[in-house]
Parts: sequence; structure tokens; C-alpha cells
Amino acid sequence: MSQSEPKVKLKAKTPPAEQLEHKLRLKTKRPAEAHMIPIKAQHHCNEACRTDFKGGLNPDYDPITGQCDRMGQIDDVPPHIASSCDEMWKDYCEQGTFLDANEIVIQDRDIQIEFDYPLKDRVSFSYHSPTGFTRKQLVDHIRTAYENIYELEAQTTTVPIGRMKGYCNRNETNGLFGISMHILGDLYLEQLDYEPRTKKVFMLIGS
Ligand SMILES: [Zn+2]
Repeated sequence: MSQSEPKVKLKAKTPPAEQLEHKLRLKTKRPAEAHMIPIKAQHHCNEACRTDFKGGLNPDYDPITGQCDRMGQIDDVPPHIASSCDEMWKDYCEQGTFLDANEIVIQDRDIQIEFDYPLKDRVSFSYHSPTGFTRKQLVDHIRTAYENIYELEAQTTTVPIGRMKGYCNRNETNGLFGISMHILGDLYLEQLDYEPRTKKVFMLIGS
């Protein structure tokens, strides 16, 4: 594990603005030489399709078939969380199935994956694979790393993990990584980028 320079401290104190600023910063951070690794998934309808993103009824959901208009559609953005389960790779998963799991998407054998959301400082982990990295290997590494990050944070924080005052969000803790705003289950993988020059994977994490 190696740690690069700390990120600039955000000035905004209100969580929504801070969150927005953080996301925008992540989007601009991607190096010019990096290329995107597509992480597509096939949509399978589930309970979440009943409602729209605001929590209202989804007009494109048919309660008789239990399906919405996106059934079977290939989505650019994986339907679920970065802390996703192994089910995601099966032929049929309720929450949607990741596609082309075993395609080698990085030929290099030694890479780093950088994590910075929702962490106080960015942190990179090194990975080795003698045959290069498949899409599934990358996503699984990311998931496992996030699980470890959250576990280590819980073990090292002196601030009890709870809710941010006045919000539903997770409070900021002061452990090894300084997690704030989101529990592990909030996170999902929006975009994966690879920079061959530095052999580094960057990602955009939604929440
Ligand atoms: Zn659906």
C-alpha cells in the first residue's frame, strides 16, 4: 500500500455541496492518457424498478409482468454497488449481470488501483496477475479493497461510526482512511479508467 499526496481539504461544510464538488473533482482527475474500460451490465428487473429515482412510482413499470421498459437492456453503468456480491457475475442475477467477465482488459501484469472516494486521502494498492487482468478480476479487487478499507477504518477510528448530524449520511470517522458520507452499500462503480503509462486504474464511484 502506498499513499500519495493528501487531497485538498474541501471548504464546503454542507454535505450535498461537498459531495458534488468531490464528484466533479474526481471526474476531472482522470489523466489525459487514460482510456475507459467499459463495464457493461444487462438489466434484470427487480423490486427497485417499481419506483423511479425520486422514490415515486415508475410509470414504465408493469406490475403484472414485474418488469420495466429496461428489461434485458445493456446498461453502460452497472446497476449496483461497488461492494457488489459474486452473484453479479452469474448468468442471471436479479440486480443485473455484468458482461464479458473473463475478457482481459489490461495486458500489464503489475498494476495499481487508486481509491479516493469517499476517503479523506487517496490510496493505491498494487496487484499482480501473470496473465493480465480480466474485467472480473478488476471489479473483484475493487470490491475486496473497499471491504478491507471499511473494515480497517472501523478498527482504527476513535470516532464512533454513526450518522452525520441532521442527515441520513454516514458521519466522518478518523481511522486509517477517513471515510465520510457513505456506507459501503451506497457505493457503485460508475466508470473504470486505465492509464498504461503509470499502469494505474482510476475509477469513478457513484453513491
Ligand atoms: Zn427493470
